[in-house]
Amino acid sequence: MIHKILVANRGEIAVRVIRACRDLHITSVAIYTRPDKSCLHVRIASEAYEVGEHPMKGYLDPHKIVEVAKQCGADAIHPGYGFLSENYEFAKIVEEAGLIFIGPKADVIHKMGNKNIARYLMKKNGIPVVPGTEKLNNESIENIKKYARQIGYPVILKASGGGGGRGIREVHKEEDLEGLLQDCKREALAFFNNDEVFMEKLIISPRHIEFQILGDNYGNIIHLLERDCSIQRRHQKIIEIAPSPTVSENLRKTMGVVAVAAAKAVGYTNVGTVEFLLDDYNNFYFMEMNTRIQVEHGITEEITGVDLIVRQIRIAAGEILDLEQSDIKAQGFAIEARIVAEDAAKNFTPALGKVTGYYPALGPSVRVDSHLYKDYNIPPFYDSLLAKLMVRATSFDLAVNKLERALEEFSIEGVTTTIPLLLAVSKSREFRRGFFDTSYTDKNMEVLVKEMQKYKDKKNKFKNEDQILNVITEAIERFEKDNR
Ligand code: ADP
Ligand code: ADP
Ligand code: MG
Repeated sequence: MIHKILVANRGEIAVRVIRACRDLHITSVAIYTRPDKSCLHVRIASEAYEVGEHPMKGYLDPHKIVEVAKQCGADAIHPGYGFLSENYEFAKIVEEAGLIFIGPKADVIHKMGNKNIARYLMKKNGIPVVPGTEKLNNESIENIKKYARQIGYPVILKASGGGGGRGIREVHKEEDLEGLLQDCKREALAFFNNDEVFMEKLIISPRHIEFQILGDNYGNIIHLLERDCSIQRRHQKIIEIAPSPTVSENLRKTMGVVAVAAAKAVGYTNVGTVEFLLDDYNNFYFMEMNTRIQVEHGITEEITGVDLIVRQIRIAAGEILDLEQSDIKAQGFAIEARIVAEDAAKNFTPALGKVTGYYPALGPSVRVDSHLYKDYNIPPFYDSLLAKLMVRATSFDLAVNKLERALEEFSIEGVTTTIPLLLAVSKSREFRRGFFDTSYTDKNMEVLVKEMQKYKDKKNKFKNEDQILNVITEAIERFEKDNR
């Protein structure tokens, strides 16, 4: 049994995991760095401990985190996503300290957390992968150029340890290859402390389809259907849909079987995601596996009724999976919109500031996972995710209506967010009809920016009306005072 869990993360995912602990009557432990002292995850946890003054270092220090866990008597650690979640050495340190790591085994993270090793293993096990190379770091530029010609342009360079859309460069012609390779390596080293890169064929306008995997420690593995994560910016998802409105039942069955086979091939346990690219002819290719809880796990929970964080904890505690593949049925469609602190009209530059007003959308079948509150100061150190808005309805069409309605109600004041962009997408005919792939935002940016402007004008009008109202109220108050 697990009685006390330390959550080695911050932001909305720390809040999400702590809520699951509270639902299960498990004691939760938050960790925080000094600037995060008044964060929501700290406030709602049963206990909270500071892990240093530096904003980042404490969240990335395996030994410090394990020390805190041991001192406070936690028996398990949940890593969330990002930070140390896909660091196999952390999982190993946790296991060696006699604590439970809530996730797959360290050696599986090692194999599947590295895109290059994962590709090799999948290929060996008969899983289709995108045509490409092994790591390029020890190759001459002449050889690399030769490989690119063999694969055929355009190609894509990817960091083996990459994530969150970083460490990726598309290359369309040979003269750009060397420069972009250096660029890619530099970014990979800066973000992932590992400059290993490899090359793949760039699939033109593919859809990103991923399967949610759930497995126990005894070899039982199922999938919880797929998510369509094709709406992206800079290779990172911004809107996700479960199940995909464009994947047929037959294709779903085939891809599901392959996703489970991929997980079985490495003895996968706990939750994970197998990501595929799907081309125009319904060919699909393994892209990577995320060996952790995924940002967009909530929409799978909404359509299947399975609480994935609760399942992670129960599986880690040694429970046998009491679900079979035939138990998993989609109840309608769910959509998630990632509300991030960025200015979409200005090439997604990060936005900072103090949240002066926070009014999340409410109503039937609307869910918001967030760590925001009024007066929260958005720190510059972490990722830009502010809130995940999720909606559910019986059809994709109705789910889009609900998304549009919820985004119109949602208001975060004092900071620029992607709400206008998300709303523009939800109003677009292409999106509603399922005519989209990973190139959607790039191709439609001009139209989206126009639509965003309409929303901003409307908001400003309200603001002006509010101001007029204030002036009138003040005038009445003055009049009443003078005549008292
Ligand atoms: P998901 O794959 O769950 O959709 P993202 O790719 O959007 O999630 O990443 C979520 C967060 O985790 C981001 O802050 C991202 O920078 C971080 N992240 C993802 N993969 C890695 C990795 N391999 N190493 C470090 N951070 C990562
Ligand atoms: P990350 O770890 O950052 O999530 P992924 O390997 O999952 O990196 O790729 C992120 C995104 O980049 C994909 O969802 C897709 O849009 C694009 N991408 C990656 N590989 C390819 C490829 N071979 N062809 C076309 N697009 C790709
Ligand atoms: Mg990915």
